[in-house]
Amino acid sequence: MKNVVLLGSTGSIGTSAIKVAGDLPDHIRLIGLAAGENADALGRQARELRPDAICINNVSKSAYLEEHVPAPVRVFSGAEGLIRLATLPEADLVLLAIVGTAGLLPALAAIRAGKDIAVASKEILVMAGHIIMSEARRHGVKVLTVDSEHSAVFQCLRGEKTEHIRRIWLTASGGPFRNTPKNQFREITVERALKHPSWRMGRKITIDSATMFNKGLEMIEARWLFDVDIEKVGVVIHPQSIVHSFVEFIDGSFLAQLSTPDMCLPIQYALTYPIRFQSERVTTNLFKLGTLEFEEPDAGRFPAIELARTAGRAGGTMPAVFNAANEIAVDQFCSRAIRFDQIPEVVQKTMENHEVIVNPPMDEIIRADARAREFAYGTCRAETPPSAIT
Ligand code: NDP
Repeated sequence: MKNVVLLGSTGSIGTSAIKVAGDLPDHIRLIGLAAGENADALGRQARELRPDAICINNVSKSAYLEEHVPAPVRVFSGAEGLIRLATLPEADLVLLAIVGTAGLLPALAAIRAGKDIAVASKEILVMAGHIIMSEARRHGVKVLTVDSEHSAVFQCLRGEKTEHIRRIWLTASGGPFRNTPKNQFREITVERALKHPSWRMGRKITIDSATMFNKGLEMIEARWLFDVDIEKVGVVIHPQSIVHSFVEFIDGSFLAQLSTPDMCLPIQYALTYPIRFQSERVTTNLFKLGTLEFEEPDAGRFPAIELARTAGRAGGTMPAVFNAANEIAVDQFCSRAIRFDQIPEVVQKTMENHEVIVNPPMDEIIRADARAREFAYGTCRAETPPSAIT
């Protein structure tokens, strides 16, 4: 039996993780659940699943939860509560599925308390991959991955040596604007950007998939998870989202992992690793798959990939700046303050304004993140065009 703490239980990954845990009641017990604002949903989950403790980020909602959750479920709140939850003595593994960077300090606390972590929140590896990975090595804990692409790479690399990797090829669906001409990007609305062709996901990652910043974040994530140079991480467009990624080896061999797209599969793999358990939740009919296509990404229309490579090459605080600027730009796009095509411009300007600090400690990363947010926000406000999307 594995005791699991789930941070981000009310979100898209969180609710899939609850389904997976429900499929394996003899193997997985959810002992902690955390959400940001949605006290109703968190309360419902707590009544149903009876974890040892829950945490709500919005401190003002903890009294409501105290009233609506039966004893002995303990209610924590705020950033401190999240750390208490992530370090519950009974926890074996902490699944990080919080959108954005709020999972960073709980992830480090969990590692330092000797817990394995399973990472969906790619932002934390982008910001502080060198710290997370070296702390995990120091404390002898596993860093597992929930992202479907990285889970695929992880599965392909079982029993293989890092020095035998020629290239990791992350697949990308290309998002809803794969075939949209560049001159139409300025007309893209929030509603259109939120319609992903193959995956149902939270809001931020759906916009990131439309701009391909998601793939950029994943490139940096892969660099840390698999300990390879960013130059060895490539991206290939694969609109069917059946091949979840490839590893190309030095002898010319490729390995890939395939399935119909459903996050329950990589979540289950991370929760039960190194064991595979039977599941009928995700089934793939080879005869009905049809054609699988692969294309080169168009750097002109999707600058996110090259910006990510630049950030990964620069290293130090630059990936945190890349991530922070993108978060602000996405937020401002969703608030209709900037256009879709301005998202990469805001990120580029913020990166150009930043002086990299090499091998930064955590406080420098957090400072760089805060400064980048401020700069990106100012850039969005300064550049609001009169024809901003309605
Ligand atoms: P959602 O927006 O659907 O869910 C986010 C979750 O985080 C919610 O439970 C939210 O709670 C919670 N949350 C937000 N802020 C805090 C906080 N400060 N403290 C505690 N909980 C908080 O996001 P997704 O599930 O789509 O994505 C989560 C992460 O997983 C992201 O990093 C994303 O990039 C990654 N990911 C997602 C995939 C997907 O298919 N969705 C695939 C691969 C990776 P509340 O509901 O109360 O706001």
